Amino acid sequence: MSQNFFSLIRSGTTDNDRIFIRTTDGRSYTYQEAWDLSAQLANVLGSKGVVIGDRVAVQVDKSPEAIILYLACLRAGAVYLPLNTAYTLAELEYFIGDAKPHVVVCTPDKYDAIEPIASTLGVFSTLTLGTRKDGTLAAEAAMASNSYDPVFVEPSDLAAILYTSGTTGRSKGAMLTHANLASNARTLVEYWQFTDRDVLLHALPIFHTHGLFVATNVVLLSSASMCFLSKFDPKLIRHEMQSATVMMGVPTFYSRLLKEEWLNRDSTDHMRLFISGSAPLLADTHRAWTDTTGHHILERYGMTETNMITSNPYDGERVPGSVGLPLPGINVRITEPEGGKPLPANTPGMIEVKGPNVFKGYWRMPEKTQSEFRTDGYFITGDIGYIDDDGYVFISGRSKDLVITGGYNVYPKEVESEIDSIEGVEESAVVGLPHSDFGEAVTAVVILKDGATLTEAEILSRLDPVLAKYKLPKRVLFEPALPRNTMGKVLKSELRKRHEGLYK
Ligand code: AMP
Repeated sequence: MSQNFFSLIRSGTTDNDRIFIRTTDGRSYTYQEAWDLSAQLANVLGSKGVVIGDRVAVQVDKSPEAIILYLACLRAGAVYLPLNTAYTLAELEYFIGDAKPHVVVCTPDKYDAIEPIASTLGVFSTLTLGTRKDGTLAAEAAMASNSYDPVFVEPSDLAAILYTSGTTGRSKGAMLTHANLASNARTLVEYWQFTDRDVLLHALPIFHTHGLFVATNVVLLSSASMCFLSKFDPKLIRHEMQSATVMMGVPTFYSRLLKEEWLNRDSTDHMRLFISGSAPLLADTHRAWTDTTGHHILERYGMTETNMITSNPYDGERVPGSVGLPLPGINVRITEPEGGKPLPANTPGMIEVKGPNVFKGYWRMPEKTQSEFRTDGYFITGDIGYIDDDGYVFISGRSKDLVITGGYNVYPKEVESEIDSIEGVEESAVVGLPHSDFGEAVTAVVILKDGATLTEAEILSRLDPVLAKYKLPKRVLFEPALPRNTMGKVLKSELRKRHEGLYK
């Protein structure tokens, strides 16, 4: 039997007349309509000569049709390659040159700029897709047949390439197989108890693993529905929560919603589950959400390369500050970052993962791929963390964000947690900045709550009794907000750049 992930989705659908996806402005597709349009789109791709393994690069705004194009690529055995809508032409040129797609799909307004770049780089055809079923791809699809047999694929054939956000160095294309997507989606449907009665509130971008795979694949595999918001909008969220059952968000969704005066038990009582991921959720936010709404946010952890790795339990205890337990069938261990020797419980080290969720490697980077795996098949995530006696995983930060000061290792998260617990502090980020004596100096960037008036000296005097001397920040800087990417991740590289001359 073909292991095409599309066939798995399609064969499990409970009711083809059910709404698969709708927008807040009233456009919708039933499952049957999604099958029909995806067949039409797959036929258009076929007419351009797309065959199994060909990349289809897609830089379009969020719309139901963009998700249905992903389904079309699965059906056709093509490799879906979504690109961040914020990428500039120069960045696109890199991605197209690296991925060598057969077809590029862009928004109608960018066609004139992108087509010449794509054709120079050998792309066979550049098509357009707008957010209201407009553009040349949609027009050609309307003329195409709505019947299409999914292409036979092996489990190890590629379904997608997602470029990592690349905060350091060149962005890498993570190759994800049909088997990777299928196994993770199956696991999550069961773990989070999704059914065809669920309606997912979807306000995430769809070029990233969170909004594309975690959200969409789970909905598809459980025959649930989703409501697409073009972006995060508290007013729309408030309205849609009356009919939705689950929301998947990044931590900033939750901290921003907590500032809304309408948020309470009543306004969230139709919801059964709030999920957070892609960046650390402050334990304070977790608790404030519970106090305000009565719901315990379920935090999970994953990455582009691995899909989801851990999750707090659906029924058991959802521990604030922890990313939960390894998902069924997925092995997680903590090791010495250099040598890879496994470490005991409660000792921070490198988080490594092995399982059917882990990607096939980086596109055209065999050496990079090899260096990120241990010889026994574990993938080295680059995240530092520990596992407690109950098996819960805690993340201390990215290994590249570790501060080494005077030969001592300082985990930024430990210092940040102490600063965040000071009354009047909204949040903080700790980075290492170049220092002639210490190599790196621990430096804190602090965001105060509205109306708070803490000084540098006050913060340092609060930290002094609780942190070892070498962990104390050399300086505390105040800023109005932390720089973040679209997934809510704090851009520490940006902070390091901003303040690199501080100790010179
Ligand atoms: P991405 O590949 O863009 O999804 O980024 C993956 C990275 O996001 C991981 O390696 C972690 O550093 C971070 N991340 C994802 N989920 C969480 C979480 N729940 N808590 C802390 N960091 C997270």
